[in-house]
Amino acid sequence: MKSIVDLRSDTVTHPSPEMREAMSKADLGDDVFGEDPTVRRLEELAANMTGKEAALFVASGSMGNLVSLLAHCSREHEVILGSKSHIHIHEQGGVASLGGIHCKVVKTQLDGTLDIEEIESCINEEDIHCAKTRLICLENTWYGRVLPLSYMAEVKELADQHGLLVHLDGARLFNAAVALGVPASTITQHVDSVQFCLSKGLASPIGSMVCGTTEFIAKARRARKLVGGGWRQAGVIAACGILSLKSMVERLADDHANAQLLAELCRKIDGIEVLHVETNMCFLGSKLPGVSNRTLELALNEAGLLCFGETVGIRCVTHYGIEASDIKAAAEIVAKVAQNLKTQTKVGV
Ligand SMILES: *Cc1c(COP(=O)(O)O)cnc(C)c1O
Repeated sequence: MKSIVDLRSDTVTHPSPEMREAMSKADLGDDVFGEDPTVRRLEELAANMTGKEAALFVASGSMGNLVSLLAHCSREHEVILGSKSHIHIHEQGGVASLGGIHCKVVKTQLDGTLDIEEIESCINEEDIHCAKTRLICLENTWYGRVLPLSYMAEVKELADQHGLLVHLDGARLFNAAVALGVPASTITQHVDSVQFCLSKGLASPIGSMVCGTTEFIAKARRARKLVGGGWRQAGVIAACGILSLKSMVERLADDHANAQLLAELCRKIDGIEVLHVETNMCFLGSKLPGVSNRTLELALNEAGLLCFGETVGIRCVTHYGIEASDIKAAAEIVAKVAQNLKTQTKVGV
């Protein structure tokens, strides 16, 4: 049987043996009543690690972003966000359809930042014709790229000058922190609220955390119930989340090293270019004459390397369960596929 290397996403990870054990032993209660001790421990830990007053355990990153924006904004408000941000593109426009919140879009630049002057030009002054600008949303990491701390500080300063709030979609916040070599709180000091995923590189089966002030989290908790996200003995999964935060963060450095290894091996392959690699995502592109990225992606999938085509290139994501030996196998598949495509196109000519 041909072996398959799955680099589609860090969401494909399964819980560790320790997580399965912790699930079976977790102390439980009804979390809608605020009585699940394991959920409470997880929320306290997440708040501490992000340097915020309080935290809320939610089912997914999308729910985390949605309840954050519902908590910060009401129907008269407008948020400024990136044209290629997850909230804008990949969450069904829930902020608008469910929250009645207007979105003003600023072009996402290739490094994941939004131009500061462009953000500023989007801020509405008090005017009866305009929605009230309330919030700026950033995303870090963005397609595996890390926003500079100085940039985050600049956005926060701009927001403060205009009395606005900043929300961070930090689905992969800890990848950014590990890449920068700083605690997550060094990044989140520049935002009012953050959402991060436990279910990606941190290897939990389910869940995200929302962190911010006590007052904000109380509102987010109401919003979570509104969207059907109130859950009961959620401690069975919160037990995994605690292990994610305690024992899966440092391990992200291995994923980053594996992504670098894949990049290094692929740079040697004729016809393949490595577009960028900063954290646990390595983006590949085709330099083979007459071969599009889409054709390359399909051929890689066919040959047993599962990966995703994105507008910014072919995405290979390293994660818990992927070892250096898998990366070598993946690079061999890339080399073989590139070789085949080269001979095929030659024959075609
Ligand atoms: C994955 C992701 C989300 C959403 O998380 P889900 O748990 O899939 O809903 C939000 N933002 C970014 C940047 C993500 O990568």
